[in-house]
Amino acid sequence: MSYATALRCRKCGREYPLEPRNLCDFCFSPLEVTYDYKAMAATVSREKLAEGQFSMWRYRDMLPVEGEVVDLGTGFTPLVKADNLASELGLDQLYIKNDGLNPTYSFKDRVVSVAVTKAREFGFEAVACASTGNLAASVAAHAAKANLKAYVFVPDSVEPGKLVGAAIYKPTLITVEGSYDDVNRLCRQLTERFHWGFININLRPYYAEGSKTLGYEVAEQLGWRAPDCVVAPAASGLLFTRIWKGLDELAMLGLIEPVNTHMYIAQAQGCSPIVNAFQAGSLHVHPVKPQTIAKSIAIGNPADGYYALRVARQSGGGAGAVSDEEAIAGMKLLAQTEGIFAEAAGGVVIATLRKLVASGVIKKDELTVAFITGAGPRTQDIVADAVQPLSIRPTVESLEEVLNVREPKLC
Ligand SMILES: *Cc1c(COP(=O)(O)O)cnc(C)c1O
Ligand SMILES: [Zn+2]
Repeated sequence: MSYATALRCRKCGREYPLEPRNLCDFCFSPLEVTYDYKAMAATVSREKLAEGQFSMWRYRDMLPVEGEVVDLGTGFTPLVKADNLASELGLDQLYIKNDGLNPTYSFKDRVVSVAVTKAREFGFEAVACASTGNLAASVAAHAAKANLKAYVFVPDSVEPGKLVGAAIYKPTLITVEGSYDDVNRLCRQLTERFHWGFININLRPYYAEGSKTLGYEVAEQLGWRAPDCVVAPAASGLLFTRIWKGLDELAMLGLIEPVNTHMYIAQAQGCSPIVNAFQAGSLHVHPVKPQTIAKSIAIGNPADGYYALRVARQSGGGAGAVSDEEAIAGMKLLAQTEGIFAEAAGGVVIATLRKLVASGVIKKDELTVAFITGAGPRTQDIVADAVQPLSIRPTVESLEEVLNVREPKLC
């Protein structure tokens, strides 16, 4: 039993039953799951949550699922106190939410775990998705676990490591000539043609809810408080809005104080339609053609851009974009200060954080959480220049030579 009551249009408020459906018939705006928060508040408590399993499913009462869940052990990833990076950037208190440590190495396992659970509840025999790479792997893995067929569509420019990361679970893997936005448009057309559960199309309202657990976890891991500042990446913008919603719900349920978190959007300059709109003081997102190494967040026409902008505005936050060079420097800085190997999206977050602190937008004494949403090892090529080994013959002298050690032996 869940406390979900309906799907509600985010614009006109019309309600629909809890079925596979993404858009309002009347105004074509996205639908969102609504809950009976009163009943939910009567059940959840800090104490009860603390007794739960160490995965995102400790928050099950706050998610829209009914029966047995499809779970690979996702969530409750480390919130690391990043003191080395903090002093490098000039912050007193910085935490890294390392969501690259999920079963398929990205935060997408959160959204997919909920969406595939719903796909099975709705009786779909196959699931499908349009992906920049990470979603494909997660959908394929969860489908394997749930004994469902999977059709995953990716742009043909996806990194080889990401392709293998999906293919190993043996989905039907389809590469499409074009950008992610082309793949997404195609998949929208396919929803009319095939009776599949499209994870980020007809199941999108449920998919979205999985991201809220990032907000829940961070607040619980901070000892039941919201951070002062959040820096998170945006592709479609959905994750960004749901971190906020997660924090907001905790306050509504009386689990934390009213939220006063400033929310900052991070994008790559080669694909920053949301940041562009923010900087232009507009809520209207103009689509762009992506050109960046941060492929997992390269969505030129972001479906939830408008809502992400509203969250950034209303929270007193902001937005920033960085070049590919800055993102790579961000990846290296995170690895070399905190021992965390993030993918390029993480480099974008760290580099954006660096700019926001340097320009005084994020203040030294503000408790800040930076979200690392994917792990680095599947896209190693972009930092291959980090490999600069000292090459030696297998002798002590040879090592002394390259290390320039000239002292006499000690004994
Ligand atoms: C999918 C993804 C995001 C954000 O996705 P949204 O579409 O904005 O919800 C961020 N980082 C990584 C690594 C991703 O794969
Ligand atoms: Zn509507």
